[in-house]
Amino acid sequence: MVAFASVADRAAIEAHTPWPPADFPATSWQMVQRAADQFGARRGVTFQLLSDPRARAETLTWSQVRDKVGQTANLLRSLGVSEGDTVALLLPNCTEMVLSYFAAQTAGIVCPINPLLEPEQIASILRETGAKVLVTLKSMPSSDVAQKAALALVLAPEVETVLEVDLARYLPFFKRIIAGFMRPKLDVQHQAKVVDFTRAIAAQPVDPVFEVGTHDRVASYFHTGGTTGLPKVAQQRFSGITYNAWVGAHVLFTERDVMMCPLPLFHVFGSVVVLGMATASGAELVLPTPAGYRGKGVFDNFWKLIARYRATFLITVPTAISALMQRPVDADISSLKLAISGSAALPVELYKRFEDAAGLTICEGYGMTEATCLVAVNPPNGPKKIGSVGIAVPHTKIRVIDPVTQFPCAVGEVGEICVQSPGVFPGHTYTEDARNADLFYPGADGQPLWLRTGDLGKLDADGYIFITGRSKDLIIRGGHNIDPAEIEEALAAHPEVAFVGAVGQPDPHAGELPCAYVELVRDATITPTELTAFARKHIAERAAVPRHIEVLDELPKTAVGKIFKPALRKLAIQRVLDEAFKHAGLAATVALVEEDRKRGLVTYIARGDGFDEDAFRALMGRYALVWDWAPAS
Ligand code: AMP
Repeated sequence: MVAFASVADRAAIEAHTPWPPADFPATSWQMVQRAADQFGARRGVTFQLLSDPRARAETLTWSQVRDKVGQTANLLRSLGVSEGDTVALLLPNCTEMVLSYFAAQTAGIVCPINPLLEPEQIASILRETGAKVLVTLKSMPSSDVAQKAALALVLAPEVETVLEVDLARYLPFFKRIIAGFMRPKLDVQHQAKVVDFTRAIAAQPVDPVFEVGTHDRVASYFHTGGTTGLPKVAQQRFSGITYNAWVGAHVLFTERDVMMCPLPLFHVFGSVVVLGMATASGAELVLPTPAGYRGKGVFDNFWKLIARYRATFLITVPTAISALMQRPVDADISSLKLAISGSAALPVELYKRFEDAAGLTICEGYGMTEATCLVAVNPPNGPKKIGSVGIAVPHTKIRVIDPVTQFPCAVGEVGEICVQSPGVFPGHTYTEDARNADLFYPGADGQPLWLRTGDLGKLDADGYIFITGRSKDLIIRGGHNIDPAEIEEALAAHPEVAFVGAVGQPDPHAGELPCAYVELVRDATITPTELTAFARKHIAERAAVPRHIEVLDELPKTAVGKIFKPALRKLAIQRVLDEAFKHAGLAATVALVEEDRKRGLVTYIARGDGFDEDAFRALMGRYALVWDWAPAS
């Protein structure tokens, strides 16, 4: 492990170890094999089904992980999966998720799918990727995953085989028997052949019986958002996957570390970054409950779980930090060295409260599925700037580009954040070619080079990146991406609705919540309450149902008649903050929300009589918003 404290350290790392490094695995299988060779007897992956800190847990050493990945890869090959074929995983976190994640990449291409999606959305991903095998759960009491999978399989009949993982195997004997009796019957019958995962892999040899390729190729499909009928599927290569793992093993983790990861492995942050880095460094990965942070009792037992495993790194997201701060630190967490947060902006106040309560520094990072994940992080051994997502990781270049002139912005000037790295697949980010058309700025040779993230931000003189807003149309609710189109299409289907614009409104807990502004047809009388009921009925995904619907006489539109979202975002900020001030009894109002060239979207506050500045600052610290005093106040 080498020091990574500054831009100068990054340059030294890059000079010392050019990409790709000669002595680092080139594929996922090689990474797993190396973990077994170097750290074989050490604890590799730990999973516990229940959140109780004394509950049963299963730990595989890195040797066992390697052998079981080998068995699973052989099974997939025997089911006809070869290099270009897709294996979809509709699984919550569990040991089998880890095994099939690596094995699917070894035999073919892995496609992890969010089990919270609706069956139609799952089916559209299965069809888009041409999945041949689906690994999913066997029907279990209190889980609807098997039911969703069955419905999706009816809509995606080209899936040939279903590998069923039985989570009941993690239960103690009597509970397992009871769970067996209580298994819900599936409502529908699909055509795919059903195979028991555990039994089938046990029948396979541990060494791959086929020649495992060593060349670079597409190894995974991760969908982004996927909340509309047409999910965007991004593709990642081995070079991007091993690159993310290398960064962790080079600058952050060693085999003596224990990473507490209650984040889902169907997302790149959990699998490519955290699991990948654990595998590359030999650190132990702990997965508490299938649903991670969403698991029953996880927040209440969280600090005790840290103590149980003597975790050294806590992998987290702002919503989870916020929930953890509602509970006292009630266990010995002195083993913890650092918390790593990503996925969404971390409000300043939350950052400070967490540092005070847990005595732990948070390293905020930034990544995206389209870049295989990692882009920037506050340097683990160097200064962490609050409100910044840190500096570009080694071998990643960040350029802030003015979307109008397409020239790089000066230091401190806001533009679109663009990225070049081994994780970026220029010109081929999405499986659908049409989606790649405007996704890149060209390099000197005119070829696609700089990935446009759709995030707005600026670089400071020390190379730290600050995200100030978003140009892409996305609502990020607690790290979960919602496509506004899903909300807009659903509401626009109402005969009294003329136009809809859905945006994210700031929220101290979830970061953003969806809200919708509606323009009605002439003489319409429908109310926001009725529209909300309509939205509940017609928006498949619970998380996408707008928290607030407002009717405007006319929606703001651009010259070509498109709904002008920035104006709606300003309205939403103004409404939410004014309500929050009122609720807190603060003599403050939002005077103006305005785009600033250097600072991004700025909220200007007017102060009234008896204004309490401390209470005001505490409240504002809970939002990831840039604010200032209104000139006359
Ligand atoms: P995903 O592909 O699901 O990981 O989403 C990527 C997007 O999440 C980025 O393009 C950003 O808009 C957002 N994001 C990720 N990390 C952060 C962060 N630390 N602060 C603000 N936004 C973030």
